[in-house]
Amino acid sequence: MSDESMSGGQMPLTGAQQTTLGQPVELPLDGWLYGYTVSPECGVCKALDRQFAEAEKHKDHRAMYQAAAEIRNHPHDGKQK
Ligand SMILES: [Zn+2]
Repeated sequence: MSDESMSGGQMPLTGAQQTTLGQPVELPLDGWLYGYTVSPECGVCKALDRQFAEAEKHKDHRAMYQAAAEIRNHPHDGKQK
């Protein structure tokens, strides 16, 4: 079994990329893979949102997924106004 369904090659990632989460990446739900919520007051999330948009322009689905995952995994204080 291989989970390397995405195109090969290694690209340098911006910032700290954490792959220690035990979340499966093989879910057939694109909405889940690429879905995220940006906190308007979080500069990091907004920057990642821009990365996602750039990746989308280039049809770089892996970068899209990575940006979305980073946003989802970005820790906040849980303060949602
Ligand atoms: Zn954030």
